[in-house]
Amino acid sequence: MGKITGFLEYVRQEVPERTPAERVRDWEPFRLPLPETVRQEQGGRCMNCGVPYCQSGIHWEGRTFGCPLHNLIPEWNDMIYAGNPSHALSRLLKTNNFPEFTGRVCPAPCERACICGMYGDAVTIRDNELSIIEDAFAAKTVYRRRPPQWSGKKVAVVGSGPTGLAAADQLNHRGHSVTVIEREERAGGLLTYGIPNMKLPKDVVQRRIELMTDEGVSFVTGLDASDPSVAQRLLADYDAVILCCGAERRRSLGVNTEGISSGICYGTEFLKAAVERQQFGKETTVFTAEDRDVVIIGTGDTASDCAATALRQGCRSIIQLVRRPEKDYLQNGVLPRSYAHEEVQAVFGQDPRRFGVQVKELIAENGALSAVVTTGGDTLPCGLLIAATGFEGCESAVCEAFGVSYGKTVHTAEGRFATSVEKVFSAGDMRRGQSLVVWAIAEGRTAAAEVDEYLNGYTNIVRSI
Ligand SMILES: Cc1cc2nc3c(=O)[nH]c(=O)nc-3n(C[C@H](O)[C@H](O)[C@H](O)COP(=O)(O)OP(=O)(O)OC[C@H]3O[C@@H](n4cnc5c(N)ncnc54)[C@H](O)[C@@H]3O)c2cc1C
Ligand code: SF4
Repeated sequence: MGKITGFLEYVRQEVPERTPAERVRDWEPFRLPLPETVRQEQGGRCMNCGVPYCQSGIHWEGRTFGCPLHNLIPEWNDMIYAGNPSHALSRLLKTNNFPEFTGRVCPAPCERACICGMYGDAVTIRDNELSIIEDAFAAKTVYRRRPPQWSGKKVAVVGSGPTGLAAADQLNHRGHSVTVIEREERAGGLLTYGIPNMKLPKDVVQRRIELMTDEGVSFVTGLDASDPSVAQRLLADYDAVILCCGAERRRSLGVNTEGISSGICYGTEFLKAAVERQQFGKETTVFTAEDRDVVIIGTGDTASDCAATALRQGCRSIIQLVRRPEKDYLQNGVLPRSYAHEEVQAVFGQDPRRFGVQVKELIAENGALSAVVTTGGDTLPCGLLIAATGFEGCESAVCEAFGVSYGKTVHTAEGRFATSVEKVFSAGDMRRGQSLVVWAIAEGRTAAAEVDEYLNGYTNIVRSI
């Protein structure tokens, strides 16, 4: 809890945001911190409700209510209000390895479960979380924690997204020697190559990876574990292997693309190329949206991130085609807007979404895409079609290389992480399907507990799931 009467005295305060028209001119974060005294009052709004549903993490009608990590939310809200940052930090890090990621990109199911929100506005839980960890980094109180002794056991974690990082962090702190294998040039998975810089700055991801390296985790990048010889080596050299390779098997576009050699790409391909170009100065063969009419298929985070990225690259226009009708998206009669929809509105004067329509046909000139015909009968000029249509499941090559049983995702027993192959485990999007960063961390932490038990015969790592 914060202050007993805090929820009556203080109103919810959102963090200030740079205006959409201003922020589309750069790639910097658009959400800014609140002054310290205001943040303390926001912690004080937590009202000692007795049953903190915010930390329960329950599933109901396909949605999550409460924090899947069971973050000790009322405790750290209390510490924010009391002005005790070191205690707030220690309680936060008990359950969440990377609050600097969730504090920026989590959709905050905890706030949906906040009792304060039943009759008014929920406590600003996610922003409070971010302020604790960022204040701690700024004050240099996030210390390096090396295990007091090493166990002599070796674990390979394949994939360095939030799942792999969380598993590696937990097992390293238990004293196992952990090596993270990543096929890309840089670690971080979708934290690095998917979610754009304005939502999650890449130096924030790098800061955590450097800290983990300092604490003893080894990172090997540019190594693809779907190569059978690499997989065999890992199986021979390590006591356990955890596959955390995400779920990037793409859905097919469902339209005839014959004869079209340029102008079509997948959302994650487009976002990855944008990050490589913009943040890491690397040239790629994937188109930019500059001076092009852009059509995005799909809705959700990826589609929004593609729209925001295309705007910053200087596209000529943006239309977003959404298969389901508008009524399916209304919340209390209002159509929610993402940061990207606000930005498109500011630049082009209209919401980019067209509901209840799909792509019917593609038109090309000399092999280059030039227009899209919709099921609504419109012909839209289009120099770049981005398919943000989601993923079917995990990639098969890496499953084949390790011989694990899989379908859409890797098969494990309900709530468990061991695969069909001895000493091979799997977690995150690769096991549960496309999900969220908070679930990825929860999976990584819990898989680490199971692996620790496998290696030691017991574990003192607390399961999140
Ligand atoms: C564009 C986009 C935006 C998103 N925005 C949000 C958001 O705002 N909030 C949120 O909560 N969630 C968001 N998500 C979802 C979230 O990013 C994922 O659920 C999360 O990253 C899954 O973590 P993971 O570690 O399981 O997989 P990933 O992050 O996908 O990481 C898997 C890693 O495994 C590596 N790998 C794969 N195969 C191999 C191999 N053979 N050898 C070696 N390495 C391999 C990959 O290169 C990658 O680095 C978004 C997803 C996308 C695509
Ligand atoms: S991780 Fe997400 S659900 Fe959990 S407290 Fe933070 S914002 Fe809420």
